[in-house]
Amino acid sequence: MKNLNLPHYLLVSIVLTIFSCKQSEKQVTVEHKIATLSISEAYDSIAAKKFGADDYGMKKYVMAFLKRGPNREWSKKETDSLQMAHLENIGKMAKAGDLVLAGPFFGNDDLRGIYIFNVTSIEEAERLTNTDPAIQAGSLAMELKEWYGSAALIPVNDIHNSLIKPEEVLAEVYQCPMKCEKDKTYHSKGNCPVCKMDLKKQS
Ligand SMILES: [Zn+2]
Repeated sequence: MKNLNLPHYLLVSIVLTIFSCKQSEKQVTVEHKIATLSISEAYDSIAAKKFGADDYGMKKYVMAFLKRGPNREWSKKETDSLQMAHLENIGKMAKAGDLVLAGPFFGNDDLRGIYIFNVTSIEEAERLTNTDPAIQAGSLAMELKEWYGSAALIPVNDIHNSLIKPEEVLAEVYQCPMKCEKDKTYHSKGNCPVCKMDLKKQS
């Protein structure tokens, strides 16, 4: 057993210790849990190769810390169009497989968000960073750091795309056929909270 698997092994032992003091009915639950655990931990050599995992299921990335840049004097219109271009660039990098993760921090600090680039050198990450219109304009600045993390991050974009509600679904409008709440509309199927009838899709 490799060293990095130790935490999982410990977890199993802890679960066993907690449950072993209780009645045998609980023991069945534990065995089920362990069975589930070992299934999910079965080595998938094809996925490991596809995602570029090393022997520990890990790989090298470059993490980018996005900070407020030196140029901060922008009109609302300029800020909006820079933000739009910045998001478009994120989508482009994700589609190309260069960006595995991106997201903003909550709050209004100088540290605005992170990227995780699917590259192994700072130079490659710098090249990608410089394609960002917000970086070019100096409204954002980037600090790059080599990072070691799970190769399981690679398929995150594909999974993420399957979670975005399509625009045509977002545009759907439902209403109670009895108009219990007058003209109130909903954007998903369901029941009227007043009469409990199925909401009807409006054409
Ligand atoms: Zn109703």
